[in-house]
Amino acid sequence: MIALLEVAGLTAGYGAVRALHGIDLTVGENEIVAVLGANGAGKTTLLRALSGTVKAAGRASLGGLDLTRTGAHRIARAGLGHVPQGRGTFTGLTVEENVRLGLLSRPAGSRGQADGDLARIYETFPVLQEMRRRPAGALSGGQQQMLALARALLARPRLLLIDEPSLGLAPLTSADMFAVLSRLREEWSLSVLLAEQNARASLKVADRGVVLARGRVVATAPAAELAADASLRAAYLGTAADSPEGVTA
Ligand code: ATP
Repeated sequence: MIALLEVAGLTAGYGAVRALHGIDLTVGENEIVAVLGANGAGKTTLLRALSGTVKAAGRASLGGLDLTRTGAHRIARAGLGHVPQGRGTFTGLTVEENVRLGLLSRPAGSRGQADGDLARIYETFPVLQEMRRRPAGALSGGQQQMLALARALLARPRLLLIDEPSLGLAPLTSADMFAVLSRLREEWSLSVLLAEQNARASLKVADRGVVLARGRVVATAPAAELAADASLRAAYLGTAADSPEGVTA
């Protein structure tokens, strides 16, 4: 079977600093893959390289589209959604204006379904509907993370890249956020590449995990296998200071 996302020998960096040294990974249709690794391992750079916001070389293909030779805007329209770390909320706009920004990256042919999609989004995230006329800056951290997901969904992605969604969230809020990913995967026929320092929580929702260390893949395995591997966790995942649950099982 051909994977939706196929990455081979992907390199990327910032000027003279190389952050990724040849990454290989795949994400299948409807699959959730967690990218794990300590601070600075290269998770954010990997997502940026795929969404075209950092220059990359090597092979990265989304349903046949060569991501290393395509601009960020076209990549988004081809069905790749990116929820960056920090969430990118425009705090001066209302909640609904923020969500509707997702419409700008919709693929041609799906314009007519925008109202229906917005209604589905409000069904999944009722708090966004309640707050829709309020400034987005009034939302809590967890609600802003939901807003960022909602905006990405409105662009109708096939593959969603999500960068550290649990960062800065309280444990219960973060658990809700991971639970919602399972639901979204089903309801929106999504594939997800999830970058997280919180290995325990992300491996609960993921099918497979890929562990990065210093810009290289050091392990790829089914999520349950990685979750049970204490020596791997000790060697590469460390203790995430930002993660309320820590990374140990
Ligand atoms: P974090 O959990 O802190 O986001 P990460 O696994 O996402 O970590 P990256 O942010 O991708 O890691 O960083 C990988 C490497 O690239 C690190 O050595 C980092 O210092 C470097 N780096 C990241 N962003 C930049 C930048 N804008 N300019 C220069 N170097 C950078």
